[in-house]
Amino acid sequence: MHRARPRGTVQGRERDTHLAREFSPESGFDNFSDYPGYFDYFDYFDYSLDSFFGSCFNLFVTSRMIVARNLTQRYPGTLERGPLTVLSGVDLHIERAEVVVVLGPSGSGKTTLLGLLAGLDRPTEGGVTLDGVELSQLDENGRASLRAESLGFVFQNFQLIPTLTALENVLVPLELLPKGRRLDSAAAQRRATELLSRVGLESRTGHYPAELSGGEQQRVGIARAFANEPKILFADEPTGNLDRETGHEVADLLFALNRERDTTLVIVSHDLELSQRAGRTVHLNAGRIERIEQVERTERDKQPST
Ligand code: ADP
Ligand code: MG
Repeated sequence: MHRARPRGTVQGRERDTHLAREFSPESGFDNFSDYPGYFDYFDYFDYSLDSFFGSCFNLFVTSRMIVARNLTQRYPGTLERGPLTVLSGVDLHIERAEVVVVLGPSGSGKTTLLGLLAGLDRPTEGGVTLDGVELSQLDENGRASLRAESLGFVFQNFQLIPTLTALENVLVPLELLPKGRRLDSAAAQRRATELLSRVGLESRTGHYPAELSGGEQQRVGIARAFANEPKILFADEPTGNLDRETGHEVADLLFALNRERDTTLVIVSHDLELSQRAGRTVHLNAGRIERIEQVERTERDKQPST
């Protein structure tokens, strides 16, 4: 196979092309302002002096996987239009292995929120801690290895690399793993092949994206997102481009992988099935959290509905 060289091979609009940005140099969060003391129990600490104990608390006392504090994203104005605040003071915590679905009208800031939580974009204000690691404390290399090691992404428009086969696309994150965790080539091939059969594509491993249906491409995207066994998987409207039946299969797959691997899922979706099967739904409106709902569910709902 040719080695994956994502830079330059991934194209698309800058704003939505998270994958392209993921693989390109980007500066860090440097504007994380003071910890706002969001949690009562943290009021006992001076967080800036005590972030070490804060991290221990986060790791050992709670099972908190994502903490977003006062996340705010503003875009500067231009001659034609004024400045735009697309996300405003978002506070959110997500537990380990939790499934959270983010809902909201188009333009309410869902994709922006996902990009900030995943460290793909830098917030204007506020900060994010992922599994006890404060993103603003990491430089670009640090964030890139955190993403490569611990995060997975599923994109609405799949974002597969067109010049690579399905198998090679799934191999990309494995090649980006830090040295200590990198698999040898045979083991990487085995894992990628196993993931593709897990998503029902064992007979399509040599196909290029253009030779796959939308549903199949999305399944390759899911196999790729799980390749590095991420702690957190971010999915932006993963079923948005799929027909009902395929969307249902993709949802089952996400939840199965969540159960099997305890992966925390943060999913932006209007899909009723996904939100009914989530643990919580976060409703965004005009860049603010309008409400957060705990999803009532029976034991039967928790099982895959196939
Ligand atoms: P959603 O995913 O909920 O549809 P987005 O997070 O993509 O919403 O966008 C929220 C708002 O931010 C939109 O009005 C969008 O036009 C605006 N926006 C997003 N990125 C930029 C940018 N780079 N510059 C200016 N405005 C932006
Ligand atoms: Mg969006």
